[in-house]
Parts: sequence; C-alpha cells; structure tokens
Amino acid sequence: MAKGFLLIISGPAGTGKGTVCKSLLERNNDIIYSISATTRKPRTGEANGINYFFIEDEEFKEKISKDEFLEYAYVHTNYYGTPKEFVMDEVKKGEIVLLEIDVQGALQIKKNYSEAVFVFLLPPTMEELKNRIVKRGTETTEDINRRFENAFKELDFVGEYDYFVVNEKIEDAVSDIESIIRAERLRVKRH
Ligand code: 5GP
Repeated sequence: MAKGFLLIISGPAGTGKGTVCKSLLERNNDIIYSISATTRKPRTGEANGINYFFIEDEEFKEKISKDEFLEYAYVHTNYYGTPKEFVMDEVKKGEIVLLEIDVQGALQIKKNYSEAVFVFLLPPTMEELKNRIVKRGTETTEDINRRFENAFKELDFVGEYDYFVVNEKIEDAVSDIESIIRAERLRVKRH
C-alpha cells in the first residue's frame, strides 16, 4: 500500500492558492481535501462543510481545549484549524491529504509530524499579488492592506518549506505540484 502523507500548501493571500488547490483536486480525485474549521464568516458562494466548517469563537475554543486540532492559528482576525482525527485517519489509510493553511500552522505541523510535504506558492510579482487581492473585491480597504502586509511577512518563511511553486499560470502551477507528489510517492527517506 502507498504511504499516505500530508501535503501542506501555503502562500500569501492573493497567490491563487484556492484556485490552484481546486484545480489540483479536480484533476486528482485520489487527493483528499482537509476542510478546516474557522470563526470567519462565510463569503458569498461559500458553504458550510464544503469550504470550511464555519463555527463560533466559543466552539472553536472548546475544540482547542479538547485537543481536536492538528494545528490552529489566528489569521487576519479569525481562528482557523485543521480537524485532527479526520486527517490522521486518512493518512493512516495511505491517502494524500491536502491542507491549505497559513505559515504559522505549517510550522506547527513541521514540528510535530514527519509525514508531511511542504509547498509554498508564490505570486509572479508583489505587484501582481496586490492586484489580485484588490480584484477579488470581497475585502474592505483595511482588510486588503492587512493581507498585503501579512503577505510580505509570510514570504520570510519560504525557506522553511520543501518546495516553492510560482503561480504564473494556474495549469503550470498545478502540474508542478503533481510532479512534487509523484516524486514524494517514490521517496525512500523523509527528512
Ligand atoms: P481565507 O479567510 O482567505 O479563506 O484564509 C485565510 C488564511 O487562512 C489563508 O492563508 C489560509 O491558507 C489560512 N487557513 C485556512 N485554513 C486554515 C487552517 O486550518 N489552519 C491554518 N493555520 N490556516 C488556515
């Protein structure tokens, strides 16, 4: 049986992480997506149990105290966390589980789990990144500026990841990630 692993994808807001991950999942139905819990309110078009499990602060804190998260972080004024039981069960079954999470969460996983592959998605340029954040149009000016500042801070952590992928064209970025997966499936030793 193939060995399962966590595939961690991070990258600043506006790098196109969501679009790249969606396309990756559409093209590879053997990859399982980890649906995070968050205290953020749903954006238009987002559904509970599909994009996230949208929960209240109190419930999130209760889950922290029950140790139900593999990792969690406070990002852009909201909590986000990865449900531990689901993810670890799938890895044990030999599945590849995709976690689209921020740098803080990735670092927690790096400390605690060896069966994980870390991919950092980069925008072609910082100017393009700002254009993408603004174009998305779902955020206030304050949110846009906060996300852009955080994007700069996140870039400092590229060196903590195993791979970087530049998202100039979505299909090329997805192919790059597929190559990483193919290589990782053949890996003899991890870290
Ligand atoms: P958004 O609100 O735009 O969906 O996500 C904001 C940030 O939170 C993104 O960088 C996303 O990768 C990150 N994020 C989403 N889910 C999780 C999670 O479960 N854990 C952590 N640490 N970050 C997450």
